[in-house]
Amino acid sequence: MTNETQYLRVIKIFGGTTVDGPGLRTSVYFAGCKHHCKGCHNPESWDVNGGSLMLVDDIVNEIEYYKFNVTLSGGDPLYQDLDVLSNLCDRIRGLGLNIWLYTGFTIEDLQRDKKYDKILSSVDVIVDGPFILGRKSNDIIFRGSTNQKIFKRDKDNKWSEIYT
Ligand code: SF4
Repeated sequence: MTNETQYLRVIKIFGGTTVDGPGLRTSVYFAGCKHHCKGCHNPESWDVNGGSLMLVDDIVNEIEYYKFNVTLSGGDPLYQDLDVLSNLCDRIRGLGLNIWLYTGFTIEDLQRDKKYDKILSSVDVIVDGPFILGRKSNDIIFRGSTNQKIFKRDKDNKWSEIYT
């Protein structure tokens, strides 16, 4: 598959957000989420056919324009084609930018299933788990509910919790 045929389904790209990780970041919001958390802040993102198909090249161009580190969010980015998403991550890292990934899966879910191996080695930080309304908190940074955890990958692909 060439870069010209690689598409992802994007709701919007926002350059300069401060809520999806440290510092100014470019957030890419992907369409589609099957977790359907009660109290989700963005249920209009659930439709896997929502947003618009966008070429990886065009996503990278926008990210390069802003020059901020990048957050992949949604929706849940892991409902995209995982090979194409991993290629996007490789391109972003090639620009010298780091990547935070928000997902409704737990890190244990991802580590159990081989299909996520490549994406696990393509992002720097994972904010994991579904939003649980009964555990909603305004006192935790970069997350909505206290079950959600933030993990950072080291150079040996080991994950450790940060912002505890
Ligand atoms: S994982 Fe996120 S986007 Fe998906 S339903 Fe839960 S809160 Fe909403």
